Amino acid sequence: MKKQDLKSLSRKEMKEWFVEEGYPAYRAEQVFNWIYRHGADDFAAMQNIPAALRGELEEKAYVKSNLAPEEALYAEDGTVKFLWKMTDGHFIESVFLPYPEEKRYSICISSQVGCAMNCSFCATARGGLVRNLTTGEIVDQVLGIQREISREKYGQPGITNVVFMGMGEPLANLPAVLKAIEILNDEKGFNIGMRRITLSTCGLVPEIRELARMDLQLVLAVSLNGPNNQIRNKLMPINKKYPIEELLEAVKYYIDKTGRRVSFEYILIDKLNDSPEQARELADLLQGILCHINLIPLNPVREFAYGRPAGDSINRFREILLAEGIECTVRQERGTGIEAACGQLRHLRNKG
Ligand code: SAH
Repeated sequence: MKKQDLKSLSRKEMKEWFVEEGYPAYRAEQVFNWIYRHGADDFAAMQNIPAALRGELEEKAYVKSNLAPEEALYAEDGTVKFLWKMTDGHFIESVFLPYPEEKRYSICISSQVGCAMNCSFCATARGGLVRNLTTGEIVDQVLGIQREISREKYGQPGITNVVFMGMGEPLANLPAVLKAIEILNDEKGFNIGMRRITLSTCGLVPEIRELARMDLQLVLAVSLNGPNNQIRNKLMPINKKYPIEELLEAVKYYIDKTGRRVSFEYILIDKLNDSPEQARELADLLQGILCHINLIPLNPVREFAYGRPAGDSINRFREILLAEGIECTVRQERGTGIEAACGQLRHLRNKG
């Protein structure tokens, strides 16, 4: 019998599982508390659970991490990139981004092993999709980082923000991601406010609409990257399936349903999508949409020919958007030198 991964269950599901197994629901609450409040990864540590019950749980379920820390790379700016080895031998990465001045400790986590979306500038796309992560594997990245950073130089800052901008397309693994979000947000779980959780998508229209109907207060980020279909088609094959017009309709629907501002990511690539005309085209496109643009100067990926624009053209692009009344910021680059910057996560260690 395959043991149940208790971290793949929301608190409600864990209670149901305990009841089905013939135990009182409050035992699930206790176990949940041990996992998320005390970081327990072993039933043996759960002192208020009777030894006999711990033994039975051991037979049927597990709380041990699905991820073994393989490597942690520390950048000078405090960013840490984690490489995890999963039980099936695959690797995934997550990044810890501390902003101590703002008391913000963000983590960037993965939702899939590899990715099927094949964006032409992104390192994760290289190996294609291997598989979806389970909720337990998503949650284990958070627990793992917490464990690692508390032992390391940061003391115990506690993670305050989570972004699904690591490897994979979170909306292509929506059920597992939603359940992980439930655990992140659960006051007895990680207790991270919904508004501090960001889900970033390449633009899967049906799933954006599905998410809209759930009316969650999380931050939806949409990777736009091009001001028109011609450029976006070149960069993001998904645009051929869901062109910009359809995508923006879904985004408007999302804003309408949730009342939340949407964030657009726009990677600036030298001489490809960074001209003043393209800035104006982008401003026209987004005029009237409750949004914010995050400009991300490309982090060049070794094998690809695309380059990062000069500082001048980044500023000019930003100035034009601001002048057109579009709110926008330039993403501060973090984790350079350890290949932890946006789009550089990949499973280098994987066979092949
Ligand atoms: N699949 C999701 C989340 C992962 S990508 C998505 O597409 O949004 C997270 C962000 O990193 C996206 O905005 C993506 O456009 C950006 N990104 C990918 N490769 C990059 C690179 N080489 N340089 C800068 N940003 C990159």
